[in-house]
Order: sequence, then C-alpha cells, then structure tokens
Amino acid sequence: MKRVTLAVPVYNEEEAIGPFRAAIEELRDELARRFEGGVRLDVLFVNDGSSDSTVERILSWREDTTDVALIDLTRNFGKEAALTAALIEAEGDAVVPIDVDLQDPPALIADMVELWLNGAELVLARRTDRSEDSLAKRSTARWFYRLHNSLAKIQLPENVGDFRLMDRSVVDAVNALPENRRFMKGIFAWVGFTPVFVDYKRPVRSAGKSSFSFWKLWLLAIESITSFSAVPLIMWTYIGLMISMLSLAYACFIVARTFVFGVDVPGYASLLTGILFLGGIQILGIGVLGEYVSSIYSEVKRRPTYLVRTRHGLSPEGSETAKTMNSKQRTR
Ligand code: UDP
Ligand code: MG
Repeated sequence: MKRVTLAVPVYNEEEAIGPFRAAIEELRDELARRFEGGVRLDVLFVNDGSSDSTVERILSWREDTTDVALIDLTRNFGKEAALTAALIEAEGDAVVPIDVDLQDPPALIADMVELWLNGAELVLARRTDRSEDSLAKRSTARWFYRLHNSLAKIQLPENVGDFRLMDRSVVDAVNALPENRRFMKGIFAWVGFTPVFVDYKRPVRSAGKSSFSFWKLWLLAIESITSFSAVPLIMWTYIGLMISMLSLAYACFIVARTFVFGVDVPGYASLLTGILFLGGIQILGIGVLGEYVSSIYSEVKRRPTYLVRTRHGLSPEGSETAKTMNSKQRTR
C-alpha cells in the first residue's frame, strides 16, 4: 500500500487544527473512494515553538488515530526550518508540504496523488488567482520574483508555493542538500525534476492570522537572493571599474582645461556631490559584502537547522533519512 505523508509546520495555530482535521478526514474518505488498493495518508506535524494550545490539540487528535505524528521543536526556528524537519523525518513514499490554515486546499491532494500514481515524480499546485492577497502583497511578490529571477540562474516559478507532492526520490534529493540556510522555494527549484501541474484558487486563511510581517518577508527575500545569486557581490567590480574610468577621463579633461584656460578654483558643489555620491556607493557595497559575509558566517558555524524536543509517533531517533542526516551533521 502506497503511503503519503503530509508535512505540516505549525506555529500558534490552535484555531486552525480543528478545521484542518475535518478537511483531512474528508480527504481520507475521498482517497479510499478513488483508489482501489488504498492509499495511506498520514500527517506529520512539526510544532515550531508554539506558545498556545496547538500541541495539546494535535495530541488529542492523536488519541483517536495512529496516522498523526508530531515533532516538537525546542523553540521557534521559522517555517523554513520546520519544513526542513518535516521533510527529513517524513517516512511516506510521497510527501506533501501543506499549510495548516487551509490556504493549501487538502481536497486538491486526491488529484495530486492520482497524477503521482500515474507516474509523475513531482506535482505542483499552481495558483491561478491571487486576488485574495492584498494589492501590496501581490505587487511586492511580483517585484521580488522579477528581481530574483533576473539575478539568479535558478528560476523561481511565480505562482507556485511550497504546496506540492514530491515523490520519495525528490524528497531525498532535497534532504541531501547540506546547507543550513534553507530557503525552501529555492531548494525545491534547484533540485529540478519534471513537474506536472494542478491549478487552484488560493482561499483566505481558515482561522488565526498570518505570522509573516513585511520585515520577515524582506529578510526571506534577502536570504533567497544571497543563497542563489552572487551577482550583487560581483557587480561592484564593474561599478568600480566604470566609476574609475569616468574619473580618469574627468581628470584628463581637468588637466587639459588647466593648460588651456589656467587654474580654475570654484567647484565646491561638484566636489561635494562627488564625495557624497562615492561615499554612498561605497557604504552600499560594504553592506552587500556584509550580507554575504553574514550568510557565510551562519553556514560555517554548522549549527543544526532545528532541534527536536520530543517525537510523538515516530521512532525515537527519527526516520532512516533523519538518522543518516544526524550522523552526517555530527561528523561534518
Ligand atoms: N509557520 C511556522 N513557523 C513560523 C511561521 C509560520 O511553522 O515561524 C507555519 C504556520 O503555522 C502555517 C505555515 O507556516 O502552517 C504558513 O504560515 P502563514 O499562514 O502565517 O503564512 P502565509 O500563508 O501568510 O504566507
Ligand atoms: Mg497562510
């Protein structure tokens, strides 16, 4: 019997667990109806340091079924880290990362599973319509994708999020990437594989509120660009070269002019403009260097991406992948 694991990061989602459970139970019925041999669906929650009753609600769901597991992290590590944990520990033949707030409709999973059983290695859920997001969010998202895709070789598909079905081979490829800074959209794009698509309209959040502020999204955008493009780092060579050449030409012009027209003292305004402009450019360049140095810094520390407090419903050391990952991390 084929097994599909839903990988669900949760952070202060006590109100969303109930509706999610109802949707999953409906999905189980649908899977049983559609696939004769049956497909086993299990849910792997990763509690990302919630301070509300999220864990209690998941544990009380666990009392009624064996198909729900929970990994409790020691603190809030952020969604990317929580998702990394879920992918490492998930044991299914296919894994579906999904948000608990029903913005990734579970009903779609039946279609994804069908495509997978027919041979697809990767099924991406594509949003046909983002009209539920605010105008500001939509336009900043559009600018981000444009900037990222013009700077980086790995192209991020614009209307695709983390919601997707990945065959075991894809999950293993994702888990094999050793970096600690885990911008999952980029990592998913990097591993490749051939996708097929299912389309959907992204609904609004079922309950609770989004934990992504403008600042958090900004930091994520910087992380994605510094993880997948060196262009901001290298471009200073060319900017510097251009400014030096212009300065050299200007110097020649001044020397020639002095020979022809004699000494010319005024020029305070152009001097000041030049100094301020170059000062600004230099600080900007140093700032960009700082972004990359800080990402090197966080990589070389080789700290684990997340720490587990307890595992409910998984073997104590985690799955086979988790075991090899952990020993790899220890020896690295
Ligand atoms: N999430 C998480 N850790 C965090 C923030 C969010 O695990 O630090 C989870 C959250 O519980 C949800 C998913 O990530 O299941 C998506 O979060 P959210 O709905 O807030 O993001 P949005 O839909 O606004 O992008
Ligand atoms: Mg959401």
